[in-house]
Amino acid sequence: MRSIGFAVVSLGIVWGTNVSAAGTLIHAGRLIDGRSAEPRSKVSIYIDGGKIVRIDDGFAKPGEGDRLISLTDRTVMPGLMDMHTHLMSQHSKDSYTERFFMEQADYALRSTVYARATLMAGFTTVRELGDNGVNSVALRNAIEKGWVVGPRIFTAGKSLATTGGHADPTNSLRGDYRKDGGPVEGVINGVDDARKAVRQRYKDGANLIKLTATGGVLSLAANGQNPQFTEAELQAVVETARDYDMTVAVHAHGTEGIRRAVLAGVTSIEHGTFLTDEVIALMKERGTYWVPTNMAGEWVAKKAEEPGYFPEIVRPKAAAIGPQMKATFVKGYAAGLKIAFGTDSGVSPHGENAHEFELMAEGGMPPMVAIQSATLVAAQLLKIDDRLGTIEAGKVADIIAVEGNPLEDIRAMRKVIFVMKEGTIHRQ
Ligand SMILES: [Zn+2]
Repeated sequence: MRSIGFAVVSLGIVWGTNVSAAGTLIHAGRLIDGRSAEPRSKVSIYIDGGKIVRIDDGFAKPGEGDRLISLTDRTVMPGLMDMHTHLMSQHSKDSYTERFFMEQADYALRSTVYARATLMAGFTTVRELGDNGVNSVALRNAIEKGWVVGPRIFTAGKSLATTGGHADPTNSLRGDYRKDGGPVEGVINGVDDARKAVRQRYKDGANLIKLTATGGVLSLAANGQNPQFTEAELQAVVETARDYDMTVAVHAHGTEGIRRAVLAGVTSIEHGTFLTDEVIALMKERGTYWVPTNMAGEWVAKKAEEPGYFPEIVRPKAAAIGPQMKATFVKGYAAGLKIAFGTDSGVSPHGENAHEFELMAEGGMPPMVAIQSATLVAAQLLKIDDRLGTIEAGKVADIIAVEGNPLEDIRAMRKVIFVMKEGTIHRQ
């Protein structure tokens, strides 16, 4: 054993151990670096000051005072990135009523549990795509300050919707609760509202914009697919977001809503359930990313079979859209769309994000491509690929390891045994 005589870190979970004193050396049995098509075996990764300094072939001797982390029988890869999460909630039968009983502080505190579960599952970066207010901004800041443990968050704050749309917060409530929300609450009608709603998110401290261009499954509304923004409204959102250096993520199931959003120049289509060949061609031409969220489809389809789980206005939508998402993934991958990994966690339980890899593999995507969709491609979508998404010299040290070989059995992605974020070890 080469590691005898050096500090081999013991098993068990170590929270937030800072390793900045000297350098850190990782011996990686197998390295998937996020960029190369093939893994490398037996490499040494040097980390200092939260950054990857160098990667060498073979298991190098640690220098004086360096900390050695022996992952010689593990697969090491970049910290994973989930482009579609909802850390403020986790669906249950109580989801439709909890807002009448929970304070904003309750949402914020509960979200710290979900954030920790996400990080421990190997996800060091997430996009938060739709909150009930600004709790996710507070969560992001608390994680950045080191007050709580969680992934790096890029949040949209409150999603934008039109009146009665998927993210209108008062759909189906009785009259005195069914408010006429405006841009401050993320409800828009017309281009002026659209611009104001984007500016409000900027003021709230959001990183990007999320909007719901079509109906959705879990909202208390009849249609899960209809277009809900006009072309002019979509263009106003995209143009204003660009002024504030924000990208635009668009929830869309139905074809017409997807088409309008792609033409307006949005950054990513979330779900994209009813993609047609025409829309796929348009997305390829425009360079639009697709975040398929297979897990959400699987989860709602399963729950639709459980009598009484969903309100009757939701159940038929869940039963129809869930299975369709699976078929669409096969088609969209085969067509060569730019796919970024996303789970819609918060629909399914937080911390199970890696199950999405299994569904992607079932849909025909090779494991290496699926892993890149959650590393390099996701970093490109977030425009942070200059510093994150790969294990290369000069990059931020977001590094995880799993048991086994995910290239042979993708289920290994669920067996995360090591998590480092910016050089700090959170799980080992
Ligand atoms: Zn979502």
